Amino acid sequence: MGLVDRIRSALAELGVRLVGRLVSVRSRSFMLDEPDVWGAVPVAYCPVGSVWDGQKCVALVGPAPEPEWAPVPSTSGVRVRNSKRAYATSKTRAWVRNAGLVAVQVDGELQVADVSGPEPGPFPPHVSHAAGRDLDVAYRLDTYPTPADVPISQGFLAVLSAMREGVETVGVSIARKAEIEALAASLGWPLPKLSAWPGHQTHAHVRLRA
Ligand SMILES: [Zn+2]
Repeated sequence: MGLVDRIRSALAELGVRLVGRLVSVRSRSFMLDEPDVWGAVPVAYCPVGSVWDGQKCVALVGPAPEPEWAPVPSTSGVRVRNSKRAYATSKTRAWVRNAGLVAVQVDGELQVADVSGPEPGPFPPHVSHAAGRDLDVAYRLDTYPTPADVPISQGFLAVLSAMREGVETVGVSIARKAEIEALAASLGWPLPKLSAWPGHQTHAHVRLRA
């Protein structure tokens, strides 16, 4: 057999196989040359994000896409004080939602105060809080803010430690920084980066990664 014939023959064989698979997808019974392994998984023939409806690939319909900029909702383990002052990116909202799931484990609610305003940009009286990834939280999981003479709670530290991924830094007062580090060391819990920022004795400022 010449080269052209060999190629033609190979193509024909390939064609038969392809037809065989397609037929198996459509009828899930009739096979030309292969066992019906594909009929059970017709989705394998459709591009990612679509599914075989019996006759053709149709796009999967997912949930409506979340808006990129929206208020952080009060969810399980999350208490948002004022949603009008808690706008954030979808990434930040996901972080908060997950932080709430940790808070629930320790019978608390992450107390979220200011995040960002209804539009990205300056958010008085804050110098930052413009990009939807800075959030003020209490040092405890019950009320906001935390009086200066009230110690941080272990539950709050649990959330901070468990959720350190995604945190760029946590702005805290010098006294709170020492307090947090001492408690974390005694428990052997890892911490996100802490930064000593003035004016953060009654609440912590969590800055998430962009
Ligand atoms: Zn802040």
